[in-house]
Amino acid sequence: MIGHNPPPSHQSNTTATRHQLTHNQLVNFLRFEIDKAETSATAVLIMKLRRAKRLDAIIGDTSTQSINHYTDQLLDNLLRDADRYAHFSDEEICLVLPDLANNAQSILAAIKILSELHKSFIADDYPVMLRPHIGIANFPELGRDAGQLLMYADIASDIAATNEQGYHVYQPEDRIKTETYSGLDIELGKAIKANELHVHYQPQINIQTGRCVSMEALIRWTAPGQRVINPATLIDIAEKTGLINTLTLWILNTALRHTATFLKMSIDVGISVNLPPKMLKDKELPQIVQQALDIWGVPASHLTLEITESLVIDDYESSLTMLSRLRELGIRLSIDDFGTGYSSLAYLKRFPVQELKIDILFIRNIHNSREDKNLVRTIIDLAKNFNLTTIAEGVEDQETFDLLRDLGCDLVQGFLYSRALSDTDFINWYRQHTLALHVISLDASITPKS
Ligand code: C2E
Ligand code: CA
Ligand code: CA
Repeated sequence: MIGHNPPPSHQSNTTATRHQLTHNQLVNFLRFEIDKAETSATAVLIMKLRRAKRLDAIIGDTSTQSINHYTDQLLDNLLRDADRYAHFSDEEICLVLPDLANNAQSILAAIKILSELHKSFIADDYPVMLRPHIGIANFPELGRDAGQLLMYADIASDIAATNEQGYHVYQPEDRIKTETYSGLDIELGKAIKANELHVHYQPQINIQTGRCVSMEALIRWTAPGQRVINPATLIDIAEKTGLINTLTLWILNTALRHTATFLKMSIDVGISVNLPPKMLKDKELPQIVQQALDIWGVPASHLTLEITESLVIDDYESSLTMLSRLRELGIRLSIDDFGTGYSSLAYLKRFPVQELKIDILFIRNIHNSREDKNLVRTIIDLAKNFNLTTIAEGVEDQETFDLLRDLGCDLVQGFLYSRALSDTDFINWYRQHTLALHVISLDASITPKS
């Protein structure tokens, strides 16, 4: 169903391609296909293009227009005559593939598009890498409502963002999931009050010494009926329902309370707490953080706040003011999910941050992808130039650890060492880990050097 034409050249003209429609036209096209007397399988695909924008910071800036131009040419070459698509936003493309012989064809189409878009290309004379993922909703299985189909494809694309293959076909269970979430806002409010939430801790390891030097606080919630809610979803619900400030305050205080306990037990670790985007807008945040540190008696230098890139960029000047005020407290600041957002070198220079946290997206395939390895290397080198600590998240095996050490990364976090643990499990883990290190170093000191 998809042609095998060569990828388009980025130098061709910039007019809309023969498959491209406006947003409204595409929705009408979908309605038309659905309403046709003879029902044939049609797929709605929502493709989100995550750009590995980090390269822009280092190498140069590529305009959205050039990237769109490239994707337009590529789709024009890949799509069948009957297929149509529209840009829903700079990073979101919706495709409608009508008259399919069967629904499996929509998966083939997605795989083909993904594999072409994964190849790095040159735009505005600079290399660009895209990280696309695709959600698929199939007609007629999912009903005749165009709006619903688009929504299902959108939900599927969010699921696709977190899976290995980069695409996901919407299943009725996915809807059950989304429906289950709909009542959760009320339950979340109750859960915060009823102490049903827990903060778990994932060790962060110094790559040179192997010592656990800090930990990241990660929220865990098992909702009534033993439903384990995905933390990212939980944060999302909290943000949408206005509970995020209360929740973050609770997480911060819980994390500092446990850290204080650990410090008293001679478990000398720092604590990283995720700061959701909206919190930076709260003018009282510095006082809140200071109070929490005072209450639990944790030195400011032990606390790191992790902030996502997007947040910093949204409102540059006021973010800068807030970050500077936080920094004045003596705490550390880390840019989370580094590499997935839009910040550039200019931001890094001006922001009072101490750490870059390289996103799992780049770590996961570091062994198989030369691009990912180069990108991680570039981030680490860049960080060194700015005197920033680098931490890699999602380190699952020794090979990745060794490679990161060779690249000069400072810290690692991931399943290779441990998942996030409850406070009591963390204490046990820490002791065993420290003991094992001690034994290794004893071994090394008694082994005669050759
Ligand atoms: P994040 O801040 O990037 O957190 C890292 C996520 O990667 C965690 O997922 C962690 O469990 C997971 N992870 C760590 N090591 C590995 C590994 O080796 N392999 C794999 N596959 N995954 C690993 P988690 O706990 O599900 O959290 C997901 C996201 O939810 C977090 O991403 C963060 O954005 C948000 N979140 C979690 N807890 C909190 C919180 O307390 N406050 C806020 N504001 N956000 C939170
Ligand atoms: Ca984080
Ligand atoms: Ca991440």
